[in-house]
Amino acid sequence: MSEKTLFSKIIDKEIPASILFEDDLCIAFKDIHPQAPVHFLVVPRKPIARLSEAGSVDHAILGHLMLKAAQVARAQGLDDFRVVINSGESAGQTVFHLHLHVLGGRSLHWPPG
Ligand code: AMP
Repeated sequence: MSEKTLFSKIIDKEIPASILFEDDLCIAFKDIHPQAPVHFLVVPRKPIARLSEAGSVDHAILGHLMLKAAQVARAQGLDDFRVVINSGESAGQTVFHLHLHVLGGRSLHWPPG
């Protein structure tokens, strides 16, 4: 069996995190190194390694993550926010368990670095 991901350990409460929301499909918790006044991650319980490895079977999960990102952003007081997915090392992915970054609470520049 493959090694549990860092985020699976957070999901299983083996590692502490500041959890904002969870349900049967996903969890949202604060990023440990926030890049904005509000910065949290939305992570599926299913350990899909990266977006490019998601399949059509994951259709409902992917939609769910987007809806929950917006719902938790609103609950955090955000009207405007950015959602980012890094897929692959050269795109900046460091944890190989799919996650949406949600950032807000300051002006965000474009294009990102
Ligand atoms: P990425 O670089 O897109 O893979 O994003 C991984 C994110 O996970 C980074 O923004 C990290 O700051 C964040 N992170 C790493 N470890 C933890 C942790 N224990 N709790 C919360 N966030 C974490």
